[in-house]
Amino acid sequence: MGDLRELYQELILDHNQNPRNFGELDDATATADGFNPLCGDRLTLYLRMIGDVVEDLKFVGTGCAISKASASIMTTVLKGKTREEAFDLFEMFQKMATTGELPNGDLGKLAVLSGVYKYPVRVKCAVLAWHTAKSALAGKNTLTKTE
Ligand code: ZN
Repeated sequence: MGDLRELYQELILDHNQNPRNFGELDDATATADGFNPLCGDRLTLYLRMIGDVVEDLKFVGTGCAISKASASIMTTVLKGKTREEAFDLFEMFQKMATTGELPNGDLGKLAVLSGVYKYPVRVKCAVLAWHTAKSALAGKNTLTKTE
C-alpha cells in the first residue's frame, strides 16, 4: 500500500469540493446511471450529443472523493470530444487506473488519478464515471456497475 496522501492530491480535493458540470442537463440526448457497490458511489450522467460530438455533459451523484473528482475531471475532458475520441480516452484512463502506466497521448488532468492503481478498491471509484460515460455514448441506458 502506498501513502494515501499521495492519492488525495489538491486537484482531486478541489474537484470533490467544487465538482465541475454538476447538475442535470435538461436537453440531454443520452443518460446513463452508474453504481459501484463496493463503495456505494452512484452517479447519473447526462450527455448532449450533436452528431458525433459530445456538445455538453453533466453529472449528479453521491460518493467518495475519488468517484466524484474523477467524474468532475472527466466531464471537463470529454466536452467537445467525438465519440471515438471519448472511447480512446476511456481505454487510456482504464489502463492508467489499473496499471499506473501513463499513456503516450496527453491525458492532461486525468494523470492526477494515475496513483489510484495502488488501491484496488479505489480503482472502481475512479473508473465508475468512465464506464457510465461509455454506456451513455453507446446508447445503453442501463445501470452500469463496476464489478
Ligand atoms: Zn468510491
